[in-house]
Amino acid sequence: MCGIVGYIGQDNATPFLIEGLSKLEYRGYDSAGIAVYDGKTIRVEKSLGRLEVLEQKIKGSEPEGSIGVGHTRWATHGRPSDQNSHPHTDCTGKFVVVHNGIIENFMSLKDMLIGKGHTFRSETDTEVVAHLLEDVYDGGSIEDTVRKVLGLVEGSYALVVMSEHDPGKIVCAKQDNPLVIGLGEGENFIASDIPAIIQRTRRTYILSDGEMAVVKSDSVWVYNREGVPITKKVFEVNWDAEAAEKGGYEHFMIKEIYEQPKAIRETMSARLAKDGSGIALDELKWTKHDLDDIKKIFIVACGTAYHAGVVGKYYIEKLARPVEVDIASEFRDRSPLVDKDTLAIVISQSGETSDTLAALKEVKAMGARTLAVTNVVGSSIAREADNVLYTWAGPEIAVASTKAYTTQLIMMFMLAVYMGQLNGKVAPEEAAEL
Ligand code: GLU
Repeated sequence: MCGIVGYIGQDNATPFLIEGLSKLEYRGYDSAGIAVYDGKTIRVEKSLGRLEVLEQKIKGSEPEGSIGVGHTRWATHGRPSDQNSHPHTDCTGKFVVVHNGIIENFMSLKDMLIGKGHTFRSETDTEVVAHLLEDVYDGGSIEDTVRKVLGLVEGSYALVVMSEHDPGKIVCAKQDNPLVIGLGEGENFIASDIPAIIQRTRRTYILSDGEMAVVKSDSVWVYNREGVPITKKVFEVNWDAEAAEKGGYEHFMIKEIYEQPKAIRETMSARLAKDGSGIALDELKWTKHDLDDIKKIFIVACGTAYHAGVVGKYYIEKLARPVEVDIASEFRDRSPLVDKDTLAIVISQSGETSDTLAALKEVKAMGARTLAVTNVVGSSIAREADNVLYTWAGPEIAVASTKAYTTQLIMMFMLAVYMGQLNGKVAPEEAAEL
């Protein structure tokens, strides 16, 4: 869901990292960061905001060194902030990680690591990877260390790691998120997407799920999870730069249509109870009592999100209780009967839809409980609502909504099943089946 780049060679890494990230800003743009190894130490520079904020920050004292990684973020865990920006480091600063995806079991790993004395500096899921690397490191190579860590994490990732303990290489791992190695002469490139490297090379290795790569300036080795080398075929990119940005698709909308299975999987997987007994919404942790207190439900949204609300009404009414759906601008003008027994569910892809935000503020002032379904972590609507259910669709560039809409439907469905489980209308076997 974000952009990743990496460079290892003879030149200064920073210019490529910045140039590569600028080509990937469409993938995520709430913050940006780079880490560069100067032969002695790794310097990390990162900041909230678009890439140009980072460029301004480092202007005149750009990190120098010929090994580096970079990241533009689309937050899933932890609001956009300087601290939550990537790269992330362990307690010693010797392991540096950039990550695209979601570490689903980060909560239990974080508890375990804090128990062992690790200090966390961010609210992200990603930071556990840096501390795990520190924790399992036994003086061996970083690829072995990364391999051990991959055995501990669950979820989806494109991970890129560098370390002062074992400099001269960058280690990558891929599961459910794209990662490409660009092959140069005496230098190699890493990117989440082809547009970042197309100016430098058209010869690539496209990593598959479960693969790891050890990238040095003069060699690239690809392994499976067990450490057995894999012979990769070179993929020659013949797309032009514009087509590359769309992953080879003719336009963003068709690309995003094809991204729906992944977006739905991301949105669902962390919310399926591990024992297969239905839906577990850790973000809500409602009790039956909480649900009993809700006498009325309003779904309020605009545009496409309103239609997700209309479908959501069918789901929730079938499994839980009556629902009214309103277009946000109309809702505000019709003086709805809202009180503390009301639950208002607001849906917005961007989390910034102004009528929806205004309606949310009004119902909150009237004492209602509020729940937001949105795709943007830390957005105004996410911050305003009492609870948030994020759809993890990633950035949607096309104007016509596709994957954002389908993940909203899935989120409404899971919410309905969750409510049905709580009020006893949905038995565990049925919940599992649904
Ligand atoms: N889950 C990570 C975070 O929230 C990575 C998000 C991304 O793919 O940009 O920081």
